[in-house]
Amino acid sequence: MSRILLCADLDRTLIPNGDAPESAGARALFRQLACKAEVRLVYVSGRDRSLIEQAIKEFDLPVPDDVIADVGATIYDIKKGEWTRLQAWDDEIAPDWGNLAPADLQAGLTGLNALQLQEPEKQGRFKLSYYTPVTWNKPSARAAVETRLQALGLKANLIWSMDDARGVGLLDILPASANKRHAIEFLAARFGFARRDMLFAGDSGNDLDVLTSPIPSVLVANASDDVRRDALAFDGDLYLAQGGYLGMNGNYSAGILEGLVHYHPRYDRWLREQL
Ligand SMILES: [Mg+2]
Repeated sequence: MSRILLCADLDRTLIPNGDAPESAGARALFRQLACKAEVRLVYVSGRDRSLIEQAIKEFDLPVPDDVIADVGATIYDIKKGEWTRLQAWDDEIAPDWGNLAPADLQAGLTGLNALQLQEPEKQGRFKLSYYTPVTWNKPSARAAVETRLQALGLKANLIWSMDDARGVGLLDILPASANKRHAIEFLAARFGFARRDMLFAGDSGNDLDVLTSPIPSVLVANASDDVRRDALAFDGDLYLAQGGYLGMNGNYSAGILEGLVHYHPRYDRWLREQL
């Protein structure tokens, strides 16, 4: 049987931490799927390593084979519980930042008073992170940052999001080529997966670069209408989980399983046998 590269976002995709309910038993079924030898499981998340390890424990998630962390700024290979940072990925994305370190970027951004540096544990070799006012995400604000970074000769990827709980904006500055889609394609090439043997599952804005790409993808049913509309505006290879499969609601891991069977019907019989 051919192998499959199964890539899943964590928050509100595999982890049921949104408002929508999770179908009973869906995550247990996903865990069984992940045990199959032909499945190479990859987590793709904005979380850093420690927050991913925390989620694996807290939500009883299967330990993956690879982790794309920090929205693509870091990749880890996991063998027998050992996490190893993938140097080949660092080498792939480093040229976008030339030889500059985050401290050099930080120096280049001094005087932009809306930006407040995040705690040291939120920073990475290829990730510089700031707090911003919630109103920050305007073209003029982005342009001010982009102009400074261009003056340093950098190619950067600016990712802005909201921490609703804390009422603060979050700005992550990464190398331009450090993004979820590129990281997934890098792993696929590294481990020899053809596109038809890849599946990505996501739910939100920072998944759109993959959801709208030619990588076969599923948008879980608990995604917001805004994301559904944005994802459908492109000509990607996208399946929208609806619910109804095996009596489940299509949210979170149920949506991932529904998408798997959409692209790979051979799994339908196996999944039914596990019930
Ligand atoms: Mg998510």
